[in-house]
Amino acid sequence: MVGETALGHEIRCSFCRKSTDEIRRLVAGPDAFICDECTAKFLEALRKDRLLACDWCGKKHEDVRSILGGPTAFICDECIELCADIVREETKAIARK
Ligand SMILES: [Zn+2]
Ligand SMILES: [Zn+2]
Repeated sequence: MVGETALGHEIRCSFCRKSTDEIRRLVAGPDAFICDECTAKFLEALRKDRLLACDWCGKKHEDVRSILGGPTAFICDECIELCADIVREETKAIARK
């Protein structure tokens, strides 16, 4: 218990601002603290993020630079560029007619 009681009431989670009285565990970083609740929350968000896949080419979040969209469809940066090209071509084709 050395030092813990003296500092205990000053330390708060940097994300949810809960104090050590309200949470079970707190992990200290060099400049911030994170509680067990926030760790679990962020981990879940990360996992969801990794499951994202482009609805056009099927590439996963980790295979492309970025994925945009939601809540029912997602598109990756590569497909956006491709779609933009197609749109440009079609606009040109229409203009020619
Ligand atoms: Zn927290
Ligand atoms: Zn894609």
